[in-house]
Amino acid sequence: MATQIVAINFTATNAGGTAHRHISEVKTASGRVLTQSEVISRIESGEEDFCTIADGEEARVIVVECPVCPADDYIKTTADEMIANNLLSLPLFPRTA
Ligand SMILES: [Zn+2]
Repeated sequence: MATQIVAINFTATNAGGTAHRHISEVKTASGRVLTQSEVISRIESGEEDFCTIADGEEARVIVVECPVCPADDYIKTTADEMIANNLLSLPLFPRTA
C-alpha cells in the first residue's frame, strides 16, 4: 500500500525562464517528513510508493522531468490535471529547523 502524502513544501524557481514551483519536502499521513530526493530514491529503488488521496481517489506519485525546466527530479501525481490530486495543491507544513 502506498504511503499517503498529506502536505508539502516547495521552492520557487525561475529555471527555464518561467517562474514555477518544485516540491522540496513532503509530509506523510503518519507525520514523517521526507525531502524530495528521499522520495525519489525510495520510488526509484522500489522501496516505497507514495500517493495522494482526494475525494476517495488515490493518485500515485511519479518521478518525471519538470514540465517547465530541464530538471529531471520532479515529482507529481498521475492525476496532476485534477486540482484535488495535485501535490502542489496540498497544504504546506511548517518547516523543521
Ligand atoms: Zn522546473
